[in-house]
Amino acid sequence: MSRNGRDYHRDPEVVKRMARLMMQGAVMLAETCPICGLPLFRLRNGEVICPVHGRVLIVSSDEEAEEARIDSVVGRVESYATSRVEELLGKGSPGEILEWLKVVEAAERIRKLRGERRSLESSKPQAGRRGSSSGGRGE
Ligand SMILES: [Zn+2]
Repeated sequence: MSRNGRDYHRDPEVVKRMARLMMQGAVMLAETCPICGLPLFRLRNGEVICPVHGRVLIVSSDEEAEEARIDSVVGRVESYATSRVEELLGKGSPGEILEWLKVVEAAERIRKLRGERRSLESSKPQAGRRGSSSGGRGE
């Protein structure tokens, strides 16, 4: 009977850890750890971990596809609402135009927020140019 680490499921220590994760508000996912096959947990901060191996990288191609889909829908909503505003200009009621303007604004805001979030996620260190802003102003 070789214990080559495959029976994590029966390890009381692992079971205890899983119970603790759930008590901390972590959610058990349908995805499993690629190393040991245990269910993964999503912590409240969004991190996905295996009770044995800690942080595991899961391929989130589904998620990425979903993100792209949302982006395209938001973009379409924005351009549709914009063209509605154009159509209504001059013939629609101000209230109607305002309603569509709100849609344009909301879509724009969502798009910006998503863009910001993504740039935070990719966490590119910005090579900011500093100190070159003070031009020679005449007196
Ligand atoms: Zn694992």
